[in-house]
Amino acid sequence: MNTETNQDPSRLAIEGGTPAVRAKLPPMYPGGMRIGEEEEAAVLEVLRSQRLFRYYGPQPGPSKVAELETAFAEMIGVKHSLAVTSGTAALICGLVALGVGPGDEVIVPAYTWIASAEAVLAVGAVPVVAECDESLTLDPADLDRRITPRTRAVIPVHMRGAPCQMDAIMAAADRYNLGVLEDAAQADGGSYHGKRLGSMGHLGAFSFQFNKILTAGEGGGVTTSRLDLYQRAVMVHDVVGGQRNRIPASEIIPGLNFRMSELQGAVLLVQLKRLEGLLKDMRRNKALLKGAVEGIARRKGAGFRVINDPDGDTAIAMVLYAPSPERADAIAAALNMEGVPAGVMYHPDRVDYHIYPHWAPIVNRKSWSGAGFPWKWHAGKLNYGVDECPRTLDLLRRAIHVDISPELSSENLEEMAEAYHKVLGSLL
Ligand SMILES: *Cc1c(COP(=O)(O)O)cnc(C)c1O
Repeated sequence: MNTETNQDPSRLAIEGGTPAVRAKLPPMYPGGMRIGEEEEAAVLEVLRSQRLFRYYGPQPGPSKVAELETAFAEMIGVKHSLAVTSGTAALICGLVALGVGPGDEVIVPAYTWIASAEAVLAVGAVPVVAECDESLTLDPADLDRRITPRTRAVIPVHMRGAPCQMDAIMAAADRYNLGVLEDAAQADGGSYHGKRLGSMGHLGAFSFQFNKILTAGEGGGVTTSRLDLYQRAVMVHDVVGGQRNRIPASEIIPGLNFRMSELQGAVLLVQLKRLEGLLKDMRRNKALLKGAVEGIARRKGAGFRVINDPDGDTAIAMVLYAPSPERADAIAAALNMEGVPAGVMYHPDRVDYHIYPHWAPIVNRKSWSGAGFPWKWHAGKLNYGVDECPRTLDLLRRAIHVDISPELSSENLEEMAEAYHKVLGSLL
């Protein structure tokens, strides 16, 4: 075959060849793409009952939100779960439950959605960023190095659906008597050594915003097995939560109303039933793609993201490390031209609120009050410069990420694998 013509299938699309991906790829809204008749029926049932509030309405009967909490706690393997309005609200409830407040430091990974860090500000504490390792989750050794006498809690984040090293993190937390709030917003149903994410820390926080595995458009959840922490979270999420739960008036803390509506509860009860199917499909798709790409990646010396427990990966994403930033940029650009929406995870000039140097209100120490709260309540030194967590930035700068939708067909996966073969074959 004449290698100079467009007919050569190995010719990169970025050099004028035919793109490997021809069939349209599904968008990455795992639970969202499966919203169907059952969600519709569940929402209609709530509307027709006119009972839109979890605690009461014109019709008596069970609350969807309460049912959701029972089912979610059972799935995660904890004694209590609390439905709230967002993942950020869940984090705030969790931090208040742990007693975090002004003057305290909370350790967060350098790579997480900014909400993990802003929830810390919301309770008056300050975030301290720590390095991630090749799993792109909190490095337990670096966690140890960031602890000061002011450290009160740590938020390990199961980023892109994969588990943190929870055993080492819990051991460090025990040594220093820190509260542990797992941020499992991106990892519904994932696990670590057989335990569900969100069941190993003192509390877990979940999000049901539209990008997450399970969704009601918006929503969140708190998990814990400790009654005292649960009760404090209940009081934060409802201004009369203390009274409703017969907590003595002298022990009631202020509430902020993060209560979930029955409409969201109805949708999430149906979504929860879809969880195992979603995980099965994403895991199958990732295994197929990774299996097809592994050989050439290894031959060319590119490594995959370390997954701390492959059996517990929710498999929402596949990440490959290029040897240099330049090579990562070239590979991502070529993959995009082949029709694979892959992206380099960090670029200094491309604003992305998942990486701490881009957290503008935090880097700039913005405040809600003229008095500088909460920053001025903190006594130690803080650094959010690029020199604070260089290893995480180097990893993300070389990391090429692709979403693994549960809706990918075998044709999609074959074409994506072909794209990786073409691109890695010539650019690595
Ligand atoms: C989405 C997300 C949150 C916040 O959830 P919201 O429901 O959007 O408030 C927190 N942490 C992580 C890691 C997230 O991905």
